[in-house]
Amino acid sequence: MAIVVQKYGGSSVATPEKIKNVAKWVIKKKLEGNDVVVVISAMGDTTDELIDLAKKITEHPDKRELDALLATGEMVSSALLAMAIKSLGYDAISMNAFQIELLTDGTYGKSLIEDINERAILDRLKEGKIVVVAGFQGITEDGDITTLGRGGSDTTAVAIAAKLKGECQIFTDVDGIYSVDPRIYREAKKIDEISYEEMLELSSLGAQVMHSRSVELAQKFNIPIYVALSCSDIKGTYIREVEIVEQKPITGIAVSDSDVAITLQNIEYDTNLLSDIFEAVASKKINVDMISQTAPIHNKVNLSFTIPKDDLRDCLDVIKPYYKKDEIIIDEDITKFSVVGLGMKTTSGVASRIFKLFKQNDIEVKMITTSEIRITCAIKQQDKMKAVGLVAKEFNL
Ligand code: ASP
Ligand code: MG
Repeated sequence: MAIVVQKYGGSSVATPEKIKNVAKWVIKKKLEGNDVVVVISAMGDTTDELIDLAKKITEHPDKRELDALLATGEMVSSALLAMAIKSLGYDAISMNAFQIELLTDGTYGKSLIEDINERAILDRLKEGKIVVVAGFQGITEDGDITTLGRGGSDTTAVAIAAKLKGECQIFTDVDGIYSVDPRIYREAKKIDEISYEEMLELSSLGAQVMHSRSVELAQKFNIPIYVALSCSDIKGTYIREVEIVEQKPITGIAVSDSDVAITLQNIEYDTNLLSDIFEAVASKKINVDMISQTAPIHNKVNLSFTIPKDDLRDCLDVIKPYYKKDEIIIDEDITKFSVVGLGMKTTSGVASRIFKLFKQNDIEVKMITTSEIRITCAIKQQDKMKAVGLVAKEFNL
């Protein structure tokens, strides 16, 4: 029997009614002759509410205890869904991270998955059960609970699909992947298929549809992911290996307001210093995205880099030894605007078209980074919509 791993997001299980409806669709998949594993997110905004609750206790909740708290969201939804399936006359069982031995590297709040005991799941499937796994959570070797980062249930689903060599379907509140988030650009078009590489860039750059580590994992194990609207037959989007065939240069645009730029002014022009700073940042597992450095003048440079806003406090703590008080500027007015496309590998002039548009429309570019298939600019937040509209029209997205 084919194994299908279906993941349902928080909005798909926001109410008891919705959970009962998901149960029907899960059973439908089972009746088509599949072994079905369901990975589930917490109901609706539960995770946000739990974070708010913790913040009412203390501004900076202990990370271990925060993970222990957040993991409860998925415990609730998985038990409810298993109950719903059983009440419709089909066998099901909810399983948490302890029960499937989903081992992580132990980093609170953003753990990486190290292993899963596939036997635990396979044995239940063999008994004819639909297995409902609590997403987002893992355990350490010491038996602590850790979570995989916001949106991490996608990664739970892909990891299980990879382990069981099953198909992976991600059901969510949007009916596929769009060239631009339709909430930002209404005319955005749905994409039939998108490469792992492009999706990875888009999701790590702020496209909210998929947890970026889930795409990384899918690429590593070559697991196609089907992303579609929950409880519907509307055709969604495949994320999989795609060949470049006369691609348009740009496949999608992503924007994100969740970064902050740190500039260290007039620091020594010294590679050791540079390496020390970024080593300190890395020691806190903070993801640095854009980096730029000015040309040295009298042996001094300005160094700028962006990190997630949430990591600002930790970052300032660890880089404190490397700058003097008046040397640092923190700029929170940053939108990371990125265009992504496999076609950029073979098409030239994309950057120049974008910068021309920005120049004609007074959009200031604060920082730039590029890869083979993407260009990212840090712009002011007030210019976000304008930039999206202009570039989407220019490239017919
Ligand atoms: N419930 C978690 C979150 O809201 C994980 C997930 O939904 O994927 O981030
Ligand atoms: Mg999600």
